[in-house]
This record gives sequence, C-alpha cells and structure tokens, in this order.
Amino acid sequence: MDKEKIKEKKITFQAPRGMHDILPADEPYWERIENAAKQLARTYGFGRIETPILEFADLYKKTAGEESDVVEKEMYVLKTKGGDVLALRPEYTAGVSRAYLEHAMSRMGQPQRLSYFGPLFRHERPQLGRYREFTQLGFEVLGGVNDAIYDAEVITIAWDLLSELKIKNPLIKINSIGCRVCRPIYKKQLQNYYRNHERELCEDCGRRLKNNPLKLFDCKNAQCQPFKEKAPNFLDKLCSMCTTHFKEVLEYLEEVGIPYEVDHRLVRGLDYYNRTVFEMFADGKEEELGALPAGGRYDYLMEMIGGHLTPAVGFAAGVERLIMVMKAKEIVPNGNRLQKRVFLTHAGDTAKKKAFLLLRDLRKAGIAVSEALAKESLNAQLRAADKEGIGLALILGQKEIYEKSVIIRDLKTGLQESVLLDKIVEEIKKRLK
Ligand code: AMP
Repeated sequence: MDKEKIKEKKITFQAPRGMHDILPADEPYWERIENAAKQLARTYGFGRIETPILEFADLYKKTAGEESDVVEKEMYVLKTKGGDVLALRPEYTAGVSRAYLEHAMSRMGQPQRLSYFGPLFRHERPQLGRYREFTQLGFEVLGGVNDAIYDAEVITIAWDLLSELKIKNPLIKINSIGCRVCRPIYKKQLQNYYRNHERELCEDCGRRLKNNPLKLFDCKNAQCQPFKEKAPNFLDKLCSMCTTHFKEVLEYLEEVGIPYEVDHRLVRGLDYYNRTVFEMFADGKEEELGALPAGGRYDYLMEMIGGHLTPAVGFAAGVERLIMVMKAKEIVPNGNRLQKRVFLTHAGDTAKKKAFLLLRDLRKAGIAVSEALAKESLNAQLRAADKEGIGLALILGQKEIYEKSVIIRDLKTGLQESVLLDKIVEEIKKRLK
C-alpha cells in the first residue's frame, strides 16, 4: 500500500460536538462543587435521588410541552430494539416527579426534599457555556402544602451555593407567571397587544404569538425588542392568590437579606412552570454566560403525568457554567489533592520491590502516594515528582532496606532525614498537615 493510501485509512476520533472530556486538572472544581451541594443537602435536609439517564420520550413531551425548545429541537431520541421510544434526559424535574409518583412518595413525610447531580443532554448549538452534554445539580421540594416559604427556601439554597463557591454579588431575577386562572387572561392580552405588531416580528416570534405567547419575551432579535418594552405587565394582572404568594416569597427573601430584582418579562422555557420563576447570574456575566441556578414552581407537573395536583418548587444549576465563572473570577477551589501527596522513589532493583510493598502499606494507612517506580534513575523519579508539583519525597535505597528506614526529603529546601519505617506513617501525616 502506498503512503497516500495509508494516510487515507487513518481515522482520528474527537468527542462529539458540544460534548467534552473532564480532565484531572479540573477535578478540584468538580469536587468542590459537588461537596458544596452535598453539604447544603445535608444541612437543609435533602435526600439524594438519581433517576435513569434514559426515560420515555413521552414523559418530556407531556411535561415540558411539545413546542418547547427542549422537546421540539433538542431532545436526543432513540428507538430501542424492543420498540420503546426513549430520550436521553434533557432535564431532571420531569424524571424526579415521575419517580415521586412511581414510588408513592406522597405517602412519605411531606414535603419530600430531593437533590441530584448528574449529566443532561440537549442538542443545542454549542457556544460559550452551552453544551450538548452538561451536568446539573439541583434541589426540589415536592408535595405538602403550597406555601411561599418553600419558594424562598430553594432560592436561599441557590444563593448559599453561590456564596459557598465564593461567587459574590450574584444577581437574582424573579417573576411570577401566575396560575391557571390568571395566566390565560394575561396570555390573551399579550396576544392582542402583539397582534398589532405581527408583521414587524421575526419569524420565530410569529410562531410564538400563536402557540406560546409568553415565550415572546425570550426573543433576542433586535427587531422584536421595542415591542417587549411596551408589553403589558403580567404582575398587574395576577389573581389575588398569586399576588399574595409572590409578595410572600419576596418578603421571606427580604427577611433573610437576599437581594432580588423583579423582572416582569422573565419567563422560563418549559410549560410546566407556574407562579414563581427565577434565574441567578454571576455579577457582570449575565449576557455572556446566561443563568447559573434557575428554577421555579411547577404545581401542575404531576397532573400532566397522571398524578394529583402536587405543589412543587425547585432549581437546577449548570456545573460547567459554575466552573467557568470560578475560573473567570480566579476562585481557586481549596483542597487541591496534589498538594497533599508524597512521592515514593527507589534506588536499585531490590529497593524497587520493597518500595512496591511500602507503597501499598502507605496507601492502606490513607496516605496519597505518587510514584514513578518504572523509572530506573532516582533523578528521573524526582523530576517526575517535580512535574506533579509534589513537595515531599521518600527515598528507599539498599542502605535503608538494611536499616529498616526510609529517607524523607523536602523537595523545596533539599533538607532530608532518615526515619524508621515503623514511624514513617506518623511522620508523613505530620508533615502533610
Ligand atoms: P434549565 O434546565 O434550562 O432551566 O437550566 C438550568 C441551568 O442549567 C441553567 O441556568 C444553566 O446553568 C444550565 N444549563 C442549561 N442548559 C445548558 C447547556 N446547554 N450547557 C450548559 N449548561 C446549561
């Protein structure tokens, strides 16, 4: 075969568009965020739930709505060999609600407080902070009574999460999109208002006007902006129950000193939301990155999938976006595991075997140890330690084996001393503190 032909045959693979690898360098960020979420779940009394990555596609069609972007454009749908039509999870809330019904969680203590952390898939146009596979963490309060205190509770958790991650001064936008009673009336008013401008709207908005007028507020096209400005204000049209609910949510937030900005044009992309909706943004990164935590109330969702009317409220935050903000703001996740390791080296073949045994004993004692035992020269091993940024090395040579000791060397200062093997665990723990 000539060279050209061999070249043609060579295939290289890349991760699919919009999907990405998470490399060890980013691990401290992931760990930091997951630990913060776990800690909040513990202190607020949330139990962890995991739902399947695949669900029946109909679950999302029934809940998010056939015309939502998630269902209409972004769902990864597949047909199994058995003929089921399944979808890769594009969002968590529907699956968590399905699990609540399936496991009769309404018979357990109410409300149920559930949290999650896992991957989602949306076939969107990849751009900054927008991927086709991404990870969300979220908190949902399901069941019990319809009380504004739960809306405030989930907003407080989202706020605490950002504070915990040192993302300071986030902007909270909040709105109420009413209920079954007041929303249809408002929608009609909005349609009437926009009908007068129908010919001046973009193509997408033309469709939204007919099918989902609240989504007109989501349009980013310049030609549609002037109409948004003068659109009727939903908050003026809320029924008295929704007005009271919204007022209470805001009062609870004020009580705990969480600042917010009411934005009467804030709507969310999915059909199942009612009353409170909110989004939080990193200071100065609103346009660039989009929302960090975002969520709202979804009292009607259980009904859409065969259950009873069940009050529920929650939020989800994109983990990749949180990491982007942390990096942009130079927030260093603490607990970088690489700074807390020792590096074990050997000098000579007999020492190599004994080093293999020592490695095992140290790890059993809970010490994180790196090594490059396959390298013969001690210098090459020490260079490997340096590359990993490790400051403490152990050196095991013939003499040390004979003396049942090991050399412990500070790689920054070059100072070293010999420590007896039966004291080494204690000594390393002291030095790594
Ligand atoms: P949503 O489920 O659309 O309400 O989104 C909740 C949060 O998930 C958003 O505020 C973002 O932080 C994050 N998110 C949503 N879509 C994406 C995406 N395609 N890529 C990365 N993060 C996303």
